[in-house]
Amino acid sequence: MTASLTDGFGRSIRYLRLSVTDRCNLRCGYCMTDDVTFVSRKDLLSFEELDRLSSAFVARGIDKIRITGGEPLVRKDVLSLFRRLSRHLAGGRLRELTLTTNGIRLARFAEDLAAAGVRRVNVSLDTLDTARYAGITRHGALSDVLDGIAAAAAAGLKVKLNAVALKGVIEPEVDRLIAFAHGRGMDLTLIETMPLGRLDVERVDQYLPLDQLRRHIERRWTLLDTADRTGGPARYVRVAETGGRIGFITPMSHSFCDGCNRVRVSATGLLYTCLGQERGTDLRAALRGSADDDGLNAAIDRAISRKPRGHDFRIVRDLGPALERPMSVLGG
Ligand code: SAM
Ligand code: SF4
Repeated sequence: MTASLTDGFGRSIRYLRLSVTDRCNLRCGYCMTDDVTFVSRKDLLSFEELDRLSSAFVARGIDKIRITGGEPLVRKDVLSLFRRLSRHLAGGRLRELTLTTNGIRLARFAEDLAAAGVRRVNVSLDTLDTARYAGITRHGALSDVLDGIAAAAAAGLKVKLNAVALKGVIEPEVDRLIAFAHGRGMDLTLIETMPLGRLDVERVDQYLPLDQLRRHIERRWTLLDTADRTGGPARYVRVAETGGRIGFITPMSHSFCDGCNRVRVSATGLLYTCLGQERGTDLRAALRGSADDDGLNAAIDRAISRKPRGHDFRIVRDLGPALERPMSVLGG
């Protein structure tokens, strides 16, 4: 029996975020530039390799896998990966198989995802204004996302909405996002922008600490603190008027690294034990180097033993990104 995964700070690692592509059908202005270059398709892990890698992690006690990207639903045949991994749900070792998506293609996948055992999905939605949505995403039609959200709900998937708190964009939107989410029984999570990837604009001009946004929200809504945790970094409040929840994810203003239980793997098989790490551990070489998992497990153990205590992101004018790697490589 192979040992479960615990890092050098005693944190038990139970959660894998697995990127299946760095490509995307959108170009959100806070995530990537319009002329971003993607990795060559030949460098991606195959579905067989993604399955073998995930299964090795499941054997080591990972009980939650989130499929992400780039946009996971643009990878050809991605459903076949969900179907393969669902055997771990059926076998009881995996508690949850889920995904984060921009929702553009969700309408056509929702029922099949539910049939593959997915129960919850995170959909990124920063605005409910059609023109603003097209502006933020550079390519997106808001109606596609709204159709995707409706289809997911109709398929029985529990939807959580994620919005990046962009200064000047979120303030006029947030009331409508709260009413939209809570009117449909969905949590809304607000996320501080992080300095990952080089942009055409200054990150500092986008950054809004969530304490400030909370004060803005409190002008209209009554927020009640809760002790609710859903296994992630969000701190939840309940809105008295709607009964729904808002999650605050504050990587910049209030670090939550002490309770971190997650690792991330890029679509090319690089294992990152912290979002703030510059270089990942090459699991693709370990996968391709041997048919048994000994080398793979040794590489995973080495990486996890060196998991940093946390990141030290800073957003300062003219400083540039903390890391050149955009969020689309590891999927948040
Ligand atoms: N394409 C999918 C989506 O947008 O949901 C999955 C990948 S995307 C990189 C995952 C999440 O990261 C999204 O909610 C997105 O808004 C968020 N994100 C992207 N860049 C970010 C940044 N620099 N800081 C904070 N969140 C970011
Ligand atoms: Fe694509 Fe998601 Fe990045 Fe937007 S945030 S560009 S949808 S990967």
